[in-house]
Amino acid sequence: MKFHIPTRVFFGTGALSQASPYIANLGIKALIVTGRTSARKSGALDDVMQLLDSSGIKWHLHDRIGENPDLEMVISGKQDFLDHGCDFVIAIGGGSPIDAAKAISLAAANDLDLDHIYDTASFLYVFPLVAIPTTAGTGTEVTPYSVLTDARPQKKAGFGSDLAFPAIAVIDPNYTISQPDQVTLNTGIDALSHLLEGIYSIKRNPLLYPLIFEGIRLIIENLPLASTTPDDYHARESLAKASMYGGMTIAHTSTTLHHSIGYPLTSVHNVPHGLANGIVLKPMMDLFYPAVSAILDRLWIYLGINRRQFYDWIDGLDMKADLHLDEEFMAQRIPEVLASRNMANNPFEVTAAQIRVIYQSL
Ligand code: NAP
Ligand code: FE
Repeated sequence: MKFHIPTRVFFGTGALSQASPYIANLGIKALIVTGRTSARKSGALDDVMQLLDSSGIKWHLHDRIGENPDLEMVISGKQDFLDHGCDFVIAIGGGSPIDAAKAISLAAANDLDLDHIYDTASFLYVFPLVAIPTTAGTGTEVTPYSVLTDARPQKKAGFGSDLAFPAIAVIDPNYTISQPDQVTLNTGIDALSHLLEGIYSIKRNPLLYPLIFEGIRLIIENLPLASTTPDDYHARESLAKASMYGGMTIAHTSTTLHHSIGYPLTSVHNVPHGLANGIVLKPMMDLFYPAVSAILDRLWIYLGINRRQFYDWIDGLDMKADLHLDEEFMAQRIPEVLASRNMANNPFEVTAAQIRVIYQSL
């Protein structure tokens, strides 16, 4: 068993001020990587600019990362980083800008072109990254993963490298308050999936169980509230913590079929990542339960509910995507799921027929 998270985490209201002496030591010019709106709406961008200006650190803003970032976005960010003489990266946003920033930093440090962004064997260096999440879901601020889309085969896939761990994570739950309700819900479910996959994965590790159990409890108690009462700080703090626990979990266990089966729903049918995980939550638990029933039964005791009540809670979230997946999708995407990296972490051999049944039920 091992536990290793090399990221220096600052958590709570005022986390950015606490982190400022460490950020000021990272370099002389930051590339600030964001999506189009969330960094501004959350208030984090203003806070970061103010901090950098008052510390005498130069910066350049790259605010063009879209959802489910593709390799072209990474190359354009790398170019901006090099053209503007940057030496570290500050990513603000949901998982999309933070994942893109990880790849931008690696691409710039190792001069990677479009065809080598997944080529972890060529990663020798990295520029330090500060990750400032504005969603509470991916946990990417404490993971070594970056999930990108290769637009040519329209395929979503991740890479993992210890060099991709952010140097610093600044997790201020206030930055998540401006999320639209549906984003709060989808991202909370992504965190729940990560925590459950920490149980499903063959790399499961008892050192993580306290984080997993508590993270799931925090989500069950706070997700419905946060998505109806956006400015409830306690609920936001609880979800930000659960998301971080989920990230710390998958940093050790990786994800499983649960994530692999969701990726084509996102890349082909534009289903948001968390929702793609959410609509298969129950079938996934049905499938994995026999292999990990001892741990899941301990989880129910910890939560004070049974599996049926957990399913009722999921139903209460009313997650729907209204998909009708055709034969062309099945023929192309089931083999893609079977070949994905995360499938090595399932506790048993998953068949094409099992994946088909789940896709047909959506
Ligand atoms: P996201 O794609 O980063 O953002 C979703 C939407 O929410 C965007 O429109 C974004 O706006 C908006 N938004 C985010 N924060 C906001 C805020 N505070 N206020 C207002 N709007 C806000 O969503 P995400 O679910 O966090 O990230 C999903 C990505 O992360 C996927 O690509 C997924 O595969 C990946 N992921 C990575 C890991 C990992 O370990 N690396 C784990 C799980 C998932 P903008 O476009 O303006 O930013
Ligand atoms: Fe995820």
